[in-house]
Amino acid sequence: AKKGGGNRVERYCAQMNEEAMHRLEMGGHLRRAIEENELFLCYQPIVDVHTRAVKAMEALIRWRHPTLGLVRPDEFIPLAEETGLIHEIGRWVLKTACKQTKRWQEMTGNDQLAIFVNVSAVQFQHERFVDDVKQALRQSRLSPSCLHLELTEHSMLRHLSSTLRTMDELRKLGVGIAVDDFGSGYSSFHYLKRLPATILKIDRAFIEQLHANASDEAIVRAMITMGRGLGLETIAEGVETPEQLDRLRDLQCTYAQGYVICPPLLAEEVTMYVTEKQK
Ligand code: C2E
Ligand code: CA
Ligand code: CA
Ligand code: CA
Repeated sequence: AKKGGGNRVERYCAQMNEEAMHRLEMGGHLRRAIEENELFLCYQPIVDVHTRAVKAMEALIRWRHPTLGLVRPDEFIPLAEETGLIHEIGRWVLKTACKQTKRWQEMTGNDQLAIFVNVSAVQFQHERFVDDVKQALRQSRLSPSCLHLELTEHSMLRHLSSTLRTMDELRKLGVGIAVDDFGSGYSSFHYLKRLPATILKIDRAFIEQLHANASDEAIVRAMITMGRGLGLETIAEGVETPEQLDRLRDLQCTYAQGYVICPPLLAEEVTMYVTEKQK
């Protein structure tokens, strides 16, 4: 080894160790979080752009850590994927979200109310994934047509052939498949044509400047038109202003989701929200 190189390697190793230690520590916390019921779900309404009727809820996971407070999913989902805990967490999310939705349907009389569940690529690749979905549907007695799984376009393309097989199985069950963060990744029309998806979720990045930026409007218009041509419905994500919502209505987007409509809610708050909207 070159002179001084050892130091660099040592420093590098020390740094790696610290990171590895931190990950190990957080991994332990996360394992305990599952056992101690520190994970819970919030739900954000997805509404019809034209009528404002509530179509569905998107389940969004939260972790209330006893000392760190609320940890965002962007921080712990990658850790859950690395440690393999994502399978257990994902199974819990599916089961909880389906049961909860069935309960809302019974309480509000809206038996069409649907649930959108985020699925990580690692979770989707697991050989038991389709069985997990079947089990969640069976245990909750939720109609498969009321369950939509969200996958980012990036994760769909990662292992294309196995992904296509799994997606076909899910479609045969009657479960919907949404392309999350559409437009943000490496999507190509070639792949889009082959994916048996049912819904496109237009990434927030295109919605942000929708009312002010002509290029963004052109892109969103094209996505909606293309979606319709392919038989796909469209959901605009991250809608924050009435102006954006107006533009989406003009552009014939199907559904919208975002703070201007409603922030993520606790399960108890959803019953009230849905009931109020039905009046
Ligand atoms: P995502 O699926 O793209 O979810 C949308 C994110 O945007 C959510 O953040 C939501 O709270 C936030 N949001 C909603 N409306 C607005 C708005 O009008 N403006 C802005 N700026 N943001 C809005 P959240 O809950 O922190 O989730 C972050 C990401 O974590 C999600 O992005 C999703 O990729 C992942 N995630 C959440 N729950 C789960 C889960 O149960 N399983 C898996 N695998 N991933 C999850
Ligand atoms: Ca999502
Ligand atoms: Ca998204
Ligand atoms: Ca996202």
